[in-house]
Amino acid sequence: MRVVVKSKRIPKKLEEEVKKVIKRYFPEIDGVLLYYTGSAYGKYLRDWKIALNPIILKKPKRILYHTVAHEVTHLIQWQQEKVRSKALKTEYSFLYTQRIPKGEKACEIWTYARHPDLVAPSYYLSVELKKLPNSKKFLSAGIEFYEERSFEIHRLAKKAIKLRERGVRNYIKWFLNELNSIFG
Ligand SMILES: [Zn+2]
Repeated sequence: MRVVVKSKRIPKKLEEEVKKVIKRYFPEIDGVLLYYTGSAYGKYLRDWKIALNPIILKKPKRILYHTVAHEVTHLIQWQQEKVRSKALKTEYSFLYTQRIPKGEKACEIWTYARHPDLVAPSYYLSVELKKLPNSKKFLSAGIEFYEERSFEIHRLAKKAIKLRERGVRNYIKWFLNELNSIFG
């Protein structure tokens, strides 16, 4: 697996973390081209190109891992036909039993379903953290809630994917309801 750094603004440490995440959780991916972005934590560009903001190195590991995994999952949304046959031979074959849908919410569900380590708060699948005193602390305080419940959220995401496979169209709504009931 190769990570080819395409910008001088990507520190070595970030390159190493990306390698680690892809090696550990994305055995079907042979390589990515890594670019810089300063406008978001991460961005999927196109083809095999992803962009990351080095600021994620200063965030909790779970957010760093989730951001990398989210962008690589976007890559898979667009390149799935090229990685499917390899993916079906891995422990992640359950993510490929149907055509993976496009979109941010689907991207998060497929990321959560891959591994509990990749579960972190998401702007796209936001929950009402009623137990938190200040909802503005979402990403910093919410992370502890996600940490404690990462296995549960991972299992829910796997179940949502199964439901979609069986023809349930509103699997995202189902997932959000379940997620909110965990936090409620
Ligand atoms: Zn995204």
